[in-house]
Amino acid sequence: MSLLSVATAFSELAIETNFPGGNARVESVDGDTVTIGPDNRDSKPWFYWNFAVKGAAGRTVTFVMNPMHIGTRGPGVSTDGGVTWKWLGVDAVKDGTFSYAFPPEADDIRFSVGMPYVKSNFDRFLASYQDHPFVHQEVLTNTGKGRPAPLLRLGDPKQKAPYAVGLTARMHSSEMMGSYLLEGLIQGVLADDERGKWLRKNVEFFIVPFADFDGVEEGDQGKGRSPHDHNRDFGDGSIYPEVIAIKDRLPAWASGRPLVFFDIHDPALKGDVFEVIQLLSGETPGQEAALVDYATLLERDQQGEFLYRKNMIMKFGTGYNKIDVEGPPPIASGWARTLPNCILGATIEFPYATAGNMEVNAESTRSFGRDMAWALAGFLQKKSQEEKK
Ligand SMILES: [Zn+2]
Repeated sequence: MSLLSVATAFSELAIETNFPGGNARVESVDGDTVTIGPDNRDSKPWFYWNFAVKGAAGRTVTFVMNPMHIGTRGPGVSTDGGVTWKWLGVDAVKDGTFSYAFPPEADDIRFSVGMPYVKSNFDRFLASYQDHPFVHQEVLTNTGKGRPAPLLRLGDPKQKAPYAVGLTARMHSSEMMGSYLLEGLIQGVLADDERGKWLRKNVEFFIVPFADFDGVEEGDQGKGRSPHDHNRDFGDGSIYPEVIAIKDRLPAWASGRPLVFFDIHDPALKGDVFEVIQLLSGETPGQEAALVDYATLLERDQQGEFLYRKNMIMKFGTGYNKIDVEGPPPIASGWARTLPNCILGATIEFPYATAGNMEVNAESTRSFGRDMAWALAGFLQKKSQEEKK
Protein backbone atom coordinates (compact mmCIF):
# COMPACT_ATOMS: atom_id res chain seq x y z
CA MET A 1 0.00 0.00 0.00
CA SER A 2 1.48 3.32 -1.00
CA LEU A 3 1.46 6.37 1.21
CA LEU A 4 -1.01 8.07 -1.11
CA SER A 5 -3.62 5.33 -0.82
CA VAL A 6 -3.31 5.43 2.98
CA ALA A 7 -4.02 9.14 2.87
CA THR A 8 -7.10 8.75 0.66
CA ALA A 9 -8.51 5.98 2.80
CA PHE A 10 -9.55 8.73 5.22
CA SER A 11 -12.10 11.04 3.69
CA GLU A 12 -11.60 14.75 3.97
CA LEU A 13 -14.05 16.62 6.22
CA ALA A 14 -15.91 19.05 3.97
CA ILE A 15 -18.41 21.80 4.77
CA GLU A 16 -20.63 22.46 1.76
CA THR A 17 -23.22 25.10 0.94
CA ASN A 18 -23.54 24.49 -2.80
CA PHE A 19 -27.20 23.42 -2.68
CA PRO A 20 -30.49 25.36 -2.61
CA GLY A 21 -30.75 27.32 0.63
CA GLY A 22 -27.10 26.72 1.55
CA ASN A 23 -25.41 29.40 3.66
CA ALA A 24 -22.35 29.45 5.92
CA ARG A 25 -19.10 31.27 6.45
CA VAL A 26 -16.40 28.85 7.56
CA GLU A 27 -13.81 30.55 9.73
CA SER A 28 -11.64 27.52 10.31
CA VAL A 29 -11.48 23.74 10.20
CA ASP A 30 -8.97 22.47 12.71
CA GLY A 31 -8.97 18.69 12.97
CA ASP A 32 -12.45 17.81 14.21
CA THR A 33 -13.34 21.35 15.23
CA VAL A 34 -15.18 23.65 12.82
CA THR A 35 -15.66 27.34 13.58
CA ILE A 36 -18.54 28.57 11.48
CA GLY A 37 -21.34 31.15 11.24
CA PRO A 38 -23.85 32.85 8.97
CA ASP A 39 -22.83 34.47 5.71
CA ASN A 40 -24.58 37.87 5.70
CA ARG A 41 -23.84 38.67 2.04
CA ASP A 42 -25.77 41.86 1.13
CA SER A 43 -28.01 41.77 4.23
CA LYS A 44 -27.55 43.28 7.66
CA PRO A 45 -25.96 40.93 10.23
CA TRP A 46 -28.50 38.18 10.80
CA PHE A 47 -28.55 34.53 11.88
CA TYR A 48 -29.46 32.24 8.98
CA TRP A 49 -27.06 29.42 8.21
CA ASN A 50 -27.51 26.02 6.56
CA PHE A 51 -24.63 23.73 5.67
CA ALA A 52 -23.90 20.10 4.78
CA VAL A 53 -21.09 18.08 6.33
CA LYS A 54 -19.47 15.42 4.20
CA GLY A 55 -16.61 13.06 4.84
CA ALA A 56 -17.32 12.90 8.57
CA ALA A 57 -18.61 9.33 8.78
CA GLY A 58 -17.67 7.74 12.08
CA ARG A 59 -16.16 10.93 13.49
CA THR A 60 -17.34 13.28 16.22
CA VAL A 61 -17.10 16.86 15.04
CA THR A 62 -17.41 19.94 17.23
CA PHE A 63 -18.98 23.10 15.78
CA VAL A 64 -18.15 26.44 17.36
CA MET A 65 -20.62 29.26 16.72
CA ASN A 66 -21.78 32.57 18.15
CA PRO A 67 -24.51 31.62 20.71
CA MET A 68 -26.71 34.36 19.20
CA HIS A 69 -26.92 32.28 16.03
CA ILE A 70 -28.47 29.20 17.66
CA GLY A 71 -32.15 29.11 18.61
CA THR A 72 -34.04 27.89 21.64
CA ARG A 73 -33.94 24.19 20.74
CA GLY A 74 -30.44 24.02 19.36
CA PRO A 75 -29.61 23.57 15.67
CA GLY A 76 -31.86 21.82 13.19
CA VAL A 77 -30.44 18.54 11.84
CA SER A 78 -31.37 16.70 8.67
CA THR A 79 -30.10 13.24 7.81
CA ASP A 80 -32.03 13.00 4.52
CA GLY A 81 -30.54 15.85 2.53
CA GLY A 82 -32.84 18.57 3.84
CA VAL A 83 -36.19 16.81 3.32
CA THR A 84 -37.03 16.50 7.03
CA TRP A 85 -35.55 18.17 10.11
CA LYS A 86 -35.32 17.70 13.85
CA TRP A 87 -33.97 19.92 16.61
CA LEU A 88 -30.74 18.67 18.12
CA GLY A 89 -31.96 20.01 21.47
CA VAL A 90 -30.77 22.90 23.57
CA ASP A 91 -28.93 20.56 25.97
CA ALA A 92 -26.58 19.63 23.12
CA VAL A 93 -25.35 23.23 22.94
CA LYS A 94 -23.00 24.98 25.37
CA ASP A 95 -22.04 28.59 24.74
CA GLY A 96 -22.71 28.20 21.03
CA THR A 97 -20.70 24.99 20.72
CA PHE A 98 -22.19 21.61 19.85
CA SER A 99 -20.78 18.23 18.87
CA TYR A 100 -22.23 15.62 16.58
CA ALA A 101 -21.27 11.96 16.34
CA PHE A 102 -21.65 11.06 12.67
CA PRO A 103 -22.88 7.50 12.13
CA PRO A 104 -20.48 5.23 10.19
CA GLU A 105 -22.61 5.43 7.03
CA ALA A 106 -23.42 9.17 7.27
CA ASP A 107 -22.43 10.90 4.05
CA ASP A 108 -24.48 14.10 3.99
CA ILE A 109 -25.74 15.52 7.28
CA ARG A 110 -27.16 19.01 7.28
CA PHE A 111 -27.25 21.52 10.08
CA SER A 112 -29.12 24.81 10.22
CA VAL A 113 -30.38 27.53 12.52
CA GLY A 114 -33.89 26.35 11.60
CA MET A 115 -35.60 23.83 9.36
CA PRO A 116 -34.72 25.06 5.86
CA TYR A 117 -37.39 25.02 3.21
CA VAL A 118 -36.78 25.64 -0.49
CA LYS A 119 -38.62 25.04 -3.75
CA SER A 120 -37.94 21.28 -3.70
CA ASN A 121 -39.71 21.05 -0.31
CA PHE A 122 -42.71 22.90 -1.76
CA ASP A 123 -42.75 20.64 -4.83
CA ARG A 124 -42.69 17.56 -2.61
CA PHE A 125 -45.61 18.97 -0.59
CA LEU A 126 -47.63 19.78 -3.73
CA ALA A 127 -46.98 16.37 -5.31
CA SER A 128 -49.79 14.89 -3.22
CA TYR A 129 -52.18 17.42 -4.75
CA GLN A 130 -50.93 16.99 -8.33
CA ASP A 131 -54.27 16.20 -9.93
CA HIS A 132 -56.42 18.14 -7.51
CA PRO A 133 -58.98 20.09 -9.57
CA PHE A 134 -58.75 23.14 -7.27
CA VAL A 135 -54.94 23.44 -7.41
CA HIS A 136 -53.37 25.55 -10.14
CA GLN A 137 -49.59 25.92 -10.35
CA GLU A 138 -48.48 29.00 -12.27
CA VAL A 139 -45.58 31.40 -12.53
CA LEU A 140 -45.79 34.76 -10.74
CA THR A 141 -42.93 36.32 -12.71
CA ASN A 142 -39.28 35.74 -13.50
CA THR A 143 -37.00 36.85 -10.70
CA GLY A 144 -34.09 39.25 -11.01
CA LYS A 145 -31.87 36.25 -11.69
CA GLY A 146 -34.28 34.68 -14.15
CA ARG A 147 -35.91 32.03 -12.00
CA PRO A 148 -39.65 31.45 -12.55
CA ALA A 149 -41.14 32.36 -9.16
CA PRO A 150 -44.06 30.05 -8.30
CA LEU A 151 -47.61 31.28 -7.95
CA LEU A 152 -50.17 28.88 -6.53
CA ARG A 153 -53.84 29.52 -7.05
CA LEU A 154 -56.52 27.54 -5.28
CA GLY A 155 -60.12 27.70 -6.38
CA ASP A 156 -62.97 26.24 -8.34
CA PRO A 157 -62.17 26.66 -12.05
CA LYS A 158 -65.87 26.42 -12.90
CA GLN A 159 -67.07 29.48 -11.04
CA LYS A 160 -65.95 32.81 -9.65
CA ALA A 161 -65.94 32.65 -5.87
CA PRO A 162 -67.25 35.70 -3.95
CA TYR A 163 -64.13 36.12 -1.74
CA ALA A 164 -60.41 36.53 -2.46
CA VAL A 165 -57.51 35.65 -0.16
CA GLY A 166 -53.87 36.55 -0.80
CA LEU A 167 -51.10 34.73 1.06
CA THR A 168 -47.41 35.57 0.84
CA ALA A 169 -44.39 34.07 2.57
CA ARG A 170 -40.62 34.53 2.51
CA MET A 171 -40.58 38.30 1.93
CA HIS A 172 -37.50 37.76 4.06
CA SER A 173 -35.99 34.77 2.35
CA SER A 174 -34.47 33.10 5.43
CA GLU A 175 -37.77 32.96 7.37
CA MET A 176 -38.38 29.33 6.54
CA MET A 177 -40.75 28.30 9.33
CA GLY A 178 -43.40 30.45 7.64
CA SER A 179 -43.38 27.96 4.77
CA TYR A 180 -44.64 25.17 7.02
CA LEU A 181 -47.38 27.50 8.24
CA LEU A 182 -48.32 28.10 4.61
CA GLU A 183 -48.40 24.33 3.98
CA GLY A 184 -50.87 23.99 6.86
CA LEU A 185 -53.07 26.76 5.47
CA ILE A 186 -53.11 25.02 2.08
CA GLN A 187 -53.92 21.69 3.77
CA GLY A 188 -56.81 23.40 5.54
CA VAL A 189 -58.21 24.81 2.30
CA LEU A 190 -57.91 21.44 0.55
CA ALA A 191 -59.15 19.39 3.50
CA ASP A 192 -62.05 17.05 3.02
CA ASP A 193 -64.10 18.62 5.78
CA GLU A 194 -66.98 21.08 5.88
CA ARG A 195 -64.83 24.19 6.20
CA GLY A 196 -62.46 23.07 3.47
CA LYS A 197 -65.43 22.49 1.19
CA TRP A 198 -66.87 25.89 2.06
CA LEU A 199 -63.54 27.62 1.40
CA ARG A 200 -63.13 25.94 -1.98
CA LYS A 201 -66.63 26.94 -3.01
CA ASN A 202 -66.54 30.51 -1.74
CA VAL A 203 -62.94 31.67 -1.84
CA GLU A 204 -60.13 31.88 -4.36
CA PHE A 205 -56.54 31.96 -3.14
CA PHE A 206 -53.57 33.78 -4.65
CA ILE A 207 -50.49 32.33 -2.96
CA VAL A 208 -46.90 33.50 -3.36
CA PRO A 209 -44.86 30.89 -1.45
CA PHE A 210 -41.48 32.55 -2.09
CA ALA A 211 -41.74 36.33 -2.33
CA ASP A 212 -37.93 36.58 -2.50
CA PHE A 213 -37.39 33.47 -4.59
CA ASP A 214 -33.75 34.11 -5.53
CA GLY A 215 -32.98 34.70 -1.86
CA VAL A 216 -34.68 31.44 -0.82
CA GLU A 217 -32.88 29.31 -3.38
CA GLU A 218 -29.52 30.97 -2.82
CA GLY A 219 -29.78 30.88 0.98
CA ASP A 220 -29.64 34.63 1.59
CA GLN A 221 -30.59 36.27 4.87
CA GLY A 222 -32.93 38.56 2.91
CA LYS A 223 -33.85 40.52 6.03
CA GLY A 224 -32.34 43.99 5.82
CA ARG A 225 -31.07 43.33 2.31
CA SER A 226 -29.38 46.28 0.62
CA PRO A 227 -30.65 48.76 -0.57
CA HIS A 228 -33.83 47.57 1.16
CA ASP A 229 -35.49 44.17 1.55
CA HIS A 230 -38.56 42.82 -0.21
CA ASN A 231 -40.85 43.75 2.67
CA ARG A 232 -39.73 47.38 2.35
CA ASP A 233 -40.36 47.42 -1.38
CA PHE A 234 -44.11 48.06 -1.41
CA GLY A 235 -43.94 51.82 -1.77
CA ASP A 236 -43.51 53.71 -5.03
CA GLY A 237 -40.72 52.59 -7.32
CA SER A 238 -40.60 48.91 -6.33
CA ILE A 239 -37.41 47.20 -7.51
CA TYR A 240 -37.98 43.46 -7.06
CA PRO A 241 -39.85 41.60 -9.84
CA GLU A 242 -41.84 39.48 -7.35
CA VAL A 243 -43.06 42.58 -5.48
CA ILE A 244 -43.86 44.39 -8.74
CA ALA A 245 -45.84 41.33 -9.90
CA ILE A 246 -47.75 41.04 -6.60
CA LYS A 247 -48.71 44.74 -6.73
CA ASP A 248 -49.73 44.39 -10.35
CA ARG A 249 -51.47 41.03 -10.42
CA LEU A 250 -53.11 40.56 -7.02
CA PRO A 251 -55.50 43.55 -7.17
CA ALA A 252 -56.45 42.71 -10.76
CA TRP A 253 -57.05 39.08 -9.82
CA ALA A 254 -59.15 40.04 -6.78
CA SER A 255 -61.11 42.41 -9.06
CA GLY A 256 -62.93 44.18 -6.26
CA ARG A 257 -63.96 41.09 -4.33
CA PRO A 258 -63.62 41.35 -0.52
CA LEU A 259 -59.96 40.52 0.11
CA VAL A 260 -58.13 39.02 3.08
CA PHE A 261 -54.34 39.24 2.92
CA PHE A 262 -51.83 37.54 5.22
CA ASP A 263 -48.08 38.02 4.91
CA ILE A 264 -46.25 35.27 6.82
CA HIS A 265 -42.95 35.91 8.62
CA ASP A 266 -40.69 34.58 11.35
CA PRO A 267 -39.46 37.13 13.91
CA ALA A 268 -35.99 37.37 15.47
CA LEU A 269 -34.46 34.11 16.69
CA LYS A 270 -35.13 34.26 20.41
CA GLY A 271 -36.36 36.44 23.26
CA ASP A 272 -39.74 36.65 25.02
CA VAL A 273 -41.53 38.74 22.40
CA PHE A 274 -40.19 36.48 19.62
CA GLU A 275 -41.27 33.19 21.21
CA VAL A 276 -44.97 33.96 20.83
CA ILE A 277 -47.20 33.74 17.76
CA GLN A 278 -47.88 37.33 16.76
CA LEU A 279 -50.73 38.62 14.61
CA LEU A 280 -49.98 42.27 13.86
CA SER A 281 -53.01 44.49 13.39
CA GLY A 282 -53.33 47.30 10.89
CA GLU A 283 -53.34 51.03 11.47
CA THR A 284 -57.08 51.76 11.31
CA PRO A 285 -59.79 50.88 13.86
CA GLY A 286 -61.61 48.92 11.13
CA GLN A 287 -58.56 46.78 10.40
CA GLU A 288 -57.94 46.19 14.09
CA ALA A 289 -61.58 45.18 14.64
CA ALA A 290 -61.41 42.78 11.67
CA LEU A 291 -58.29 41.10 13.08
CA VAL A 292 -59.96 40.80 16.50
CA ASP A 293 -62.94 39.12 14.78
CA TYR A 294 -60.59 36.71 13.04
CA ALA A 295 -58.56 35.99 16.16
CA THR A 296 -61.75 35.40 18.16
CA LEU A 297 -62.65 32.57 15.79
CA LEU A 298 -59.08 31.28 15.84
CA GLU A 299 -59.17 31.16 19.62
CA ARG A 300 -62.59 29.48 19.62
CA ASP A 301 -62.00 26.84 16.97
CA GLN A 302 -58.29 25.97 17.08
CA GLN A 303 -57.45 22.29 17.29
CA GLY A 304 -53.70 22.31 16.65
CA GLU A 305 -50.77 22.23 19.04
CA PHE A 306 -50.61 25.94 19.81
CA LEU A 307 -53.02 28.09 21.76
CA TYR A 308 -53.60 31.51 20.31
CA ARG A 309 -55.54 34.03 22.37
CA LYS A 310 -57.12 37.07 20.79
CA ASN A 311 -55.72 39.32 23.50
CA MET A 312 -52.27 38.46 22.13
CA ILE A 313 -52.83 40.65 19.03
CA MET A 314 -49.97 43.10 18.64
CA LYS A 315 -51.77 46.38 18.03
CA PHE A 316 -50.43 48.87 15.57
CA GLY A 317 -47.91 51.19 17.20
CA THR A 318 -47.02 48.69 19.94
CA GLY A 319 -44.13 46.21 20.28
CA TYR A 320 -42.41 45.83 16.95
CA ASN A 321 -45.61 46.55 15.01
CA LYS A 322 -44.46 49.99 13.92
CA ILE A 323 -43.78 51.56 10.58
CA ASP A 324 -41.36 54.43 10.45
CA VAL A 325 -43.29 56.75 8.14
CA GLU A 326 -40.27 58.90 7.46
CA GLY A 327 -38.05 55.95 6.67
CA PRO A 328 -38.90 52.82 4.74
CA PRO A 329 -41.89 52.62 2.41
CA PRO A 330 -44.88 50.44 3.28
CA ILE A 331 -44.62 46.72 3.96
CA ALA A 332 -46.63 44.05 2.12
CA SER A 333 -49.58 43.93 4.53
CA GLY A 334 -49.57 47.75 4.76
CA TRP A 335 -49.79 47.94 0.98
CA ALA A 336 -52.63 45.38 0.92
CA ARG A 337 -54.58 47.43 3.45
CA THR A 338 -54.52 50.38 1.08
CA LEU A 339 -56.60 48.40 -1.43
CA PRO A 340 -60.23 49.57 -1.13
CA ASN A 341 -61.56 45.98 -1.10
CA CYS A 342 -59.19 44.74 1.63
CA ILE A 343 -61.35 43.77 4.60
CA LEU A 344 -58.42 42.32 6.57
CA GLY A 345 -54.69 42.59 5.97
CA ALA A 346 -52.15 41.43 8.54
CA THR A 347 -48.60 40.29 9.10
CA ILE A 348 -48.15 36.96 10.93
CA GLU A 349 -44.94 36.37 12.85
CA PHE A 350 -44.41 32.70 13.66
CA PRO A 351 -41.49 31.77 15.95
CA TYR A 352 -38.56 29.60 14.88
CA ALA A 353 -38.42 26.97 17.60
CA THR A 354 -40.58 27.84 20.60
CA ALA A 355 -44.07 29.37 20.73
CA GLY A 356 -45.50 29.80 24.19
CA ASN A 357 -43.34 26.93 25.53
CA MET A 358 -44.50 24.58 22.76
CA GLU A 359 -42.09 23.10 20.25
CA VAL A 360 -42.21 24.62 16.80
CA ASN A 361 -41.42 22.06 14.11
CA ALA A 362 -42.72 21.29 10.63
CA GLU A 363 -45.81 19.41 11.76
CA SER A 364 -46.78 21.54 14.75
CA THR A 365 -46.45 24.63 12.55
CA ARG A 366 -48.68 23.06 9.90
CA SER A 367 -51.28 22.42 12.62
CA PHE A 368 -51.45 26.18 13.28
CA GLY A 369 -51.77 26.81 9.55
CA ARG A 370 -54.75 24.48 9.43
CA ASP A 371 -56.27 26.36 12.39
CA MET A 372 -55.75 29.59 10.48
CA ALA A 373 -57.65 28.15 7.50
CA TRP A 374 -60.50 27.09 9.77
CA ALA A 375 -60.69 30.56 11.28
CA LEU A 376 -60.63 32.06 7.80
CA ALA A 377 -63.67 29.98 6.88
CA GLY A 378 -65.48 31.11 10.00
CA PHE A 379 -64.52 34.75 9.42
CA LEU A 380 -65.74 34.79 5.82
CA GLN A 381 -68.88 32.80 6.64
CA LYS A 382 -69.73 35.51 9.15
CA LYS A 383 -69.13 38.18 6.49
CA SER A 384 -71.30 36.28 4.08
CA GLN A 385 -74.14 36.12 6.61
CA GLU A 386 -73.81 39.85 7.35
CA GLU A 387 -74.01 40.64 3.64
CA LYS A 388 -77.23 38.63 3.30
CA LYS A 389 -78.93 40.64 6.06
ZN1 LIG B 1 -39.79 38.92 8.19
